Amino acid sequence: MIKKTNNLMDKIVSLCKRRGFIFPGSEIYGGLTGFWDYGPLGVEFKRNIKNEWWKSVVQDRDDVVGCDAAIIMNPEVWKASGHVDSLTDPLVECKTCHIRIRADQGDDIKDHEAGHAKKKEKVSWTEPKKFNLLTEVFLGATEPKQKAYLRGEITQGVIVNFSNTVSSSRVKIPFGIAQIGKAFRNEITPGNFTFRSREFEQMELEYFIQPDEKEGESVFKYWKEERLRWYVSLGIRREHLRFHEHTPAERAHYARFAEDIEYDSPFGWKEFEGIHHRGDWDLSRHKVSYKDPDTGKEYTPWIIETSGGVDRAALFFLIDAYSEDGDRMVLRLNPKLAPYKAAVFPLLANKPELVKSARKIYEDLRKHLMVAWDDRGNIGKRYYSQDEIGTPYCITVDFESLEGNDVTVRDRDTAKQERVKIAELREYIVKRVYGEQ
Ligand code: ATP
Repeated sequence: MIKKTNNLMDKIVSLCKRRGFIFPGSEIYGGLTGFWDYGPLGVEFKRNIKNEWWKSVVQDRDDVVGCDAAIIMNPEVWKASGHVDSLTDPLVECKTCHIRIRADQGDDIKDHEAGHAKKKEKVSWTEPKKFNLLTEVFLGATEPKQKAYLRGEITQGVIVNFSNTVSSSRVKIPFGIAQIGKAFRNEITPGNFTFRSREFEQMELEYFIQPDEKEGESVFKYWKEERLRWYVSLGIRREHLRFHEHTPAERAHYARFAEDIEYDSPFGWKEFEGIHHRGDWDLSRHKVSYKDPDTGKEYTPWIIETSGGVDRAALFFLIDAYSEDGDRMVLRLNPKLAPYKAAVFPLLANKPELVKSARKIYEDLRKHLMVAWDDRGNIGKRYYSQDEIGTPYCITVDFESLEGNDVTVRDRDTAKQERVKIAELREYIVKRVYGEQ
């Protein structure tokens, strides 16, 4: 394991760029602050995170269904939800150099003051002002164009579809609606790589319950633990996670109470995911209620929400998986999250019989799994290259394979090799990656 310093962040950023996980957005035009693009490996990795989340929150459960709402909604939604007034961060301006930063980010303030102190300059700040984070867009061909917003959180798309979901499916309270999608915030100070971006993806569950204090508490506790368990099940070390209970000052305008799951990152303990008790805030603001089909009782349900960032999850999974073994760099990602589940090599690229057999294995496997092909350089270099991107298994076709119909499978974490029959290879890899099906 390596020590978590900012040096580690430099290594992660450089690995992401070099191997095609994450690139600076619009880089050939000098980039755009707060925007990032996912490359060939990043898109697979991120999709695996989202698939695992969907599996655990929707597919494996009886009580949760999905939703995929439009990013741009009627602007009335954002007025009713309170975001036009309250999706704000406190902004202060340095009176010496006029840089604007978030007043509630103590580290940023201290760093800035230290910079001036080095130059023997005194710093004073303007009074904090509320800065709204919603991103405005303008629609239509006639002037004045209609003002709308890119959604600042994905929750509202679920809330406005509550009644449609109840009437079109068999859900009954308690039940949840899950959604994954992009959100946009005009963050004052984006930074720490993808941690704070202006465009990012969220994965959220809105879980609807009867308005009842006791039930609210127990459902909140259940989801809090369930979400922590999910991160641990996919490889984040438990000691790198903790809960942080929001103080009233930290709480969002809609939350009755809230806790964050935080990660011990190279830049401090940081929020991964928020678990919020939203009470009846949302549905009552949109004047939506629920009629119990069994009792006929009508009421405004309460919501317990779990709201995680896909990009933050990707970043923290990468940081937690990064390790160095001598000069070998190994990304010990959970195999379910790894961009490629296996890589296939012919021992020698200039032996057509080896290439032909390896190619056949590769083509058979890729019908079922994301698999890489590599016939460059020597085997050692190919292992090194796959370790760096987290590929859990490397399969080599050698001369013995032609006789014995078997291959060498090398394990990323132990570097141990075993012979596996070609006929059993797919089942072997699937079991090792996903466990017993
Ligand atoms: P922060 O305090 O870090 O600004 P927040 O409390 O405003 O975050 P929420 O509104 O609770 O965040 O959003 C839920 C989740 O969405 C966060 O836990 C995080 O994973 C993700 N998220 C929020 N803002 C950003 C952002 N600017 N960039 C990347 N992910 C974000």
